[in-house]
Amino acid sequence: MDIQPDERTINEIPLEEIVDTPMGGKSNIILDSQILTTLMGCPRLADFRFNHNFVSIAGKSNSLECGSIVHTYQEYYNKNLIWGLKKETAHQHGLAAAEMYITGCRGCAVFVPSEELPKPPCGHKPFEFPGVRNTPKEPDMQNPREKYKTGWQWVLDTIDQYYHFYRNDHWVPLEVEVVKGKVLYEDDEIRVLWKAKLDLTVDTNQGIYPVDHKTMKQNRNTISMNNQFIGQCLIMDTRNVFLNKIGFQKTLKPEDKFKRPPVSYSAQRLLEWQGETLPFYSKLLLMYAETGHFPPNFDHCEGKYGNCAFLPVCEANPDMREEEIKKLFIIGPEWNPTNDDDSFDEVE
Ligand SMILES: [Zn+2]
Repeated sequence: MDIQPDERTINEIPLEEIVDTPMGGKSNIILDSQILTTLMGCPRLADFRFNHNFVSIAGKSNSLECGSIVHTYQEYYNKNLIWGLKKETAHQHGLAAAEMYITGCRGCAVFVPSEELPKPPCGHKPFEFPGVRNTPKEPDMQNPREKYKTGWQWVLDTIDQYYHFYRNDHWVPLEVEVVKGKVLYEDDEIRVLWKAKLDLTVDTNQGIYPVDHKTMKQNRNTISMNNQFIGQCLIMDTRNVFLNKIGFQKTLKPEDKFKRPPVSYSAQRLLEWQGETLPFYSKLLLMYAETGHFPPNFDHCEGKYGNCAFLPVCEANPDMREEEIKKLFIIGPEWNPTNDDDSFDEVE
C-alpha cells in the first residue's frame, strides 16, 4: 500500500509524532533507515539525535563534507539530465553547485525559518549550501591534524574524472533525491510507515533501480546487512540497489576507484526483514517512547571512524549531562529524511 505523496504525512511529521497512538487504536510508527539503524546501535543515541535533534557545533567532519560536495554535484548533474540538458552542460551545472557547497550561500547557510519566511530568500533549500568548515582547498602536509584530510580541490578533480569516465554510460536517470513512503507492516497493534530518500533512480537497461552514491577514501566492501538498502528495495519493488562508489584515492586509476556494484537480496531475506525485523524494532521503539527511557548501548561508543560524539555526555554524571550537551551541541532542525545528512553514509 502506497501512501500518496501528502507531503505532510511523509515528510513533515515531527519526531514527537513518530509514535502516535490514538485512543484505543493501533500505533502508527514512522521510520526511516537512519532512525532504525541508530536504534539498533544505541537507543539513547537515537533519542539524542532524532527526538532532541542535537547537532554537533563542530560541523560535519572532513569526510562527510567531501561526501556532501559529491552528493550536491550528483543531484544537480542528474537533475539537469532529466530536464533534457546535454551531458556537458549538466556537468558544468553540477560542478557549479558543488562549488557553491564549498563556498556557501549567504541566503541559505545561516537561514532561520520563521512564519513570515519559511524558505530562504535565495530560492535554495534551507541549509542547502552551508560552505565547508573542515575541508581545506589542499591539506597542509606539515600540519599533523590536517595531513589526512581530503582537500576540496581534489574532490572537484575527482568529480571531473568521474564525469569523463562515465560520459558514455547507459544509465538513464529518472528521479533525483526523492522521498518515498510506504506502509511496510501492519498488525493489530502497530502500523509502520517506512520512508526512504533515494539519491537517484535509474533505468540501467536491465530494469529500474535505486542508486546510492558512496564516497570513500579507501575501498571497502559493502555488506548487505543494511536497513537503507533493504528499505529502498521494498519501496521500489526490486531486489537490487546499485552503489555508485566514488573513491578519493590519488594513486588509483578511474576504473579502480569508480565502481557501480549491485547489492542483491533474495525475496526471502526481504520478507524476513519486513515481517520480523522491522516490526520487532518498531515495537521496541514504541516501548521506549511510552516509558520515556532510551537505554544506552555501551557496545556502540567506539565506531569505525572514532568515538560517538555523545561519549563525553554519557561519561559525565547524570546531573551534569545537560551541561555537557550545551557545550558540544546545538539544537538542529527537526529530523525528517529530506534533511541533508549523510552522516551514516560510508565515508573515510
Ligand atoms: Zn542559498
